Amino acid sequence: AKEKGRNQYLFCSTDMKGEVNRQNQLTNYLYRALEKGELFINYQPQVCLNTGKVTGVESLLRWQHPELGLISPAVIIPLAEKTSLINPIGEWVLETACRQNKAWQDMGMEPILMAVNISASQFKNPNLISQVEGILQRTGLKPKYLEVEITESTAILELNEIICKLKGLKEIGVSIAIDDFGTEYSSLGRLKMLPLDRLKMDKQFVDGAGHNHKDQAIAKAIIQLGKSLGLSVVAEGVEDENQVSFLKTSHCDLIQGYYYYKPLDAAAIEEILKQQG
Ligand code: C2E
Ligand code: CA
Ligand code: CA
Ligand code: CA
Repeated sequence: AKEKGRNQYLFCSTDMKGEVNRQNQLTNYLYRALEKGELFINYQPQVCLNTGKVTGVESLLRWQHPELGLISPAVIIPLAEKTSLINPIGEWVLETACRQNKAWQDMGMEPILMAVNISASQFKNPNLISQVEGILQRTGLKPKYLEVEITESTAILELNEIICKLKGLKEIGVSIAIDDFGTEYSSLGRLKMLPLDRLKMDKQFVDGAGHNHKDQAIAKAIIQLGKSLGLSVVAEGVEDENQVSFLKTSHCDLIQGYYYYKPLDAAAIEEILKQQG
C-alpha cells in the first residue's frame, strides 16, 4: 500500500507539473493570439417575446488556435484574468463589438443593442469609463446601443467603487445588465443599490422551467423580482418550446438560447436583421 501511495503521489506531482506547463504554454499563445488575429466574436441574438424580433445580441469571445483548434471563453477568460491580458483582450472585444454594431446600422439595418461581458478584473481598471468612452467615439456607436453585462462577482467588489463606476457608465448613456443572476453570492440588498437596467436569469433556472414545478416557482419569482425593480428580464439558455411558453405566460421580456439561435458570426446576424427588415 505504501508503494502504491508513493506512486500515486509521483503520478500526481508530474501531472500537476504537466498542467502548469500547459497553462504557461497556453498563456504564451494567448499573448500572440490578439496580434495574430486568432480571436473573434460570435453574436447570440436576444429575441423579444412580444414581437418575435431580434432586438439585441450578446458578444461571445472565441479563439481559433491553428493547432489546438477552437478554444472556449471558459478557458480564455480565466487565463486572461490571471495575467495582464484581460485588459487588452477586454478592450478588443468592446471595440470590435461596437464597430460591428455600428456597421450593421450603416448598412441600413434597424438598430439593435450590443451586450458585452465585462469581468470583475476589468472593473478594477481605473480607466474603464474613459476606455468605453474612447471606444464609442472611435466607432461612432451611440451609447444607447451598448450594454455591459456584469456578474455578481463584480457586484461584490467594494460597494462605493462599483456604484461609482456603474453610474459613470450610465452617465455616458450605456446600459447595464446583471448576468447569471441567482448563481453567486451577492445579496438583494446590494443589488438594489446598483443602477441596473436588465436582469439576465441564469440557464440553471430556465432548464427546469418547462416541466418542474419548483423550478417554475423560482423562475417566476426571479422574473417578478426583476420587473418590480423596473428591470427588463432576459432568460438565458432557453432550449425548448415548453420553456418558451412558460416564460411567455410569466411575462419574461426577452429570450436568449439555442431554441431560437446559437451564437453566430456577423454575416449570419446580418442575414437575420435583413430578413426582419
Ligand atoms: P455567459 O455570459 O453566461 O454567456 C452565455 C453562455 O451560454 C454562452 O457560452 C452561450 O453560448 C451559452 N448558451 C446560450 N444559449 C444556450 C443554450 O440554449 N444552451 C446552452 N447549453 N448554452 C447556451 P460561451 O459562449 O461558451 O461563453 C461562456 C462564458 O464565457 C460566458 O457566459 C461569459 O461568462 C464568458 N465570456 C464569453 N465572452 C466573454 C468576453 O468577451 N468577456 C468576458 N469577460 N467573458 C466572456
Ligand atoms: Ca453574459
Ligand atoms: Ca449569463
Ligand atoms: Ca453563465
